[in-house]
Amino acid sequence: MHSNSSVNVAGGRIGVALLGATGSIGTSALRVFERQRERFTPVALTAYGNRAALAEQVAQWAPAYVGLVQEHADAPESWGRGAACLVEAATHPDAHVVINAVVGAAGLPATLAALRLGKRVALANKETLVVAGDIVTRTAREHGGELLPVDSEHSAILQCLAGRQPHEVKRLILTASGGPFRTWPAERIAGATRVDALKHPTWQMGSKITIDSATLANKALEVIEAHHLFGVPYDRIEVVVHPQSIIHSFVEFVDGSVLAQMGVPSMELPILYALTWPERVPDSGVPSFDPVTSGDLTFEGVRHDVFPMLQLGIGAGRRGGAAPAVYNAANEVAVAHFLSGRLGFNGIAERVAAALHALGSMPGDSLEALLAADTAAREHVHAHVAQAENGN
Ligand code: NAD
Ligand code: MG
Repeated sequence: MHSNSSVNVAGGRIGVALLGATGSIGTSALRVFERQRERFTPVALTAYGNRAALAEQVAQWAPAYVGLVQEHADAPESWGRGAACLVEAATHPDAHVVINAVVGAAGLPATLAALRLGKRVALANKETLVVAGDIVTRTAREHGGELLPVDSEHSAILQCLAGRQPHEVKRLILTASGGPFRTWPAERIAGATRVDALKHPTWQMGSKITIDSATLANKALEVIEAHHLFGVPYDRIEVVVHPQSIIHSFVEFVDGSVLAQMGVPSMELPILYALTWPERVPDSGVPSFDPVTSGDLTFEGVRHDVFPMLQLGIGAGRRGGAAPAVYNAANEVAVAHFLSGRLGFNGIAERVAAALHALGSMPGDSLEALLAADTAAREHVHAHVAQAENGN
């Protein structure tokens, strides 16, 4: 973590720009603000296309800036529009903190712009770190910006690390729910539908991350995210399946001690902690934890043969350069095609593996190079899906 805490939680109210306000994380953040009105207030809200939901939020919160990415005939003149509205919201002078809760690589420019101004970015948009982790963390360091995770595993690790030095850390162990197909035989997974894959056992989330949880791509994105956030090499980051999602992750220290952070699954705690870190403030976003009624906590290994997306993604992370950007972009497009019925469930991993094979060695030494790889990977998957439909 890059700490020069510019956020004063004890003082007046802190202005927050909320990107992706109408989504799962966005609406959770607004519930946090409802309880924490004395501390935080949304000063900028953006959404992609849901004008009506955004208008309701604007009526409730009266933010100084509103942005809707999609053109909409009924959108007020005063609203920002187009992809540029994310950067406009993130750099708004009233916003001290930016919660980036948009989906996919589209969130990258806003994160970089906020960090360049030395702001705190509470980052749910993990794809940003997968595409350009080195550039994002360097930008934070050079400009005094802060990157705080809004991801339950990384928030858990941050909480376990509190006050510890990097040389005291031996291993990070990320927990994974295993998704809806954890116990399914491979033959049944091959025929899994959109409806099957959208039934997450423990978390209510947006559709893209829910599919990523079913393929375990989400856990690969999170391993790469952890590598960049905490500066821990890949061979010291592990994944274990924990179906109850009560333990959010573990840190093992060099003396053999292991700390875990636990609680009933809710994203409202990671959101609040990213805003108040390194402090804690009273809040009631998470139901009280009862060890007796919470039931058994179990752990198992990952079935790598059935869920190849995890190792494909970690391999891309280890390879570096443009490989993680290719993995991410190919996955975004493959998931969209799965959701629209144009690709089967196993087609996601097949398309991502093929894109990595063809494009994984593209250069990744600048933002332009990474964005070129991102574009090439998207086109690679689109072209293949179109070709398969035309029967060649
Ligand atoms: P969601 O689909 O529910 O919401 C996404 C939000 O972003 C919406 O407001 C949408 O309008 C906006 N958006 C989508 N595409 C956009 C684009 N191209 N440009 C601008 N805005 C766009 O998704 P979510 O579940 O809230 O996830 C958001 C991010 O948080 C993802 O990166 C996800 O991986 C991460 N995350 C989510 C959870 C969770 O519990 N939902 C947990 C950890 C991390
Ligand atoms: Mg997570």
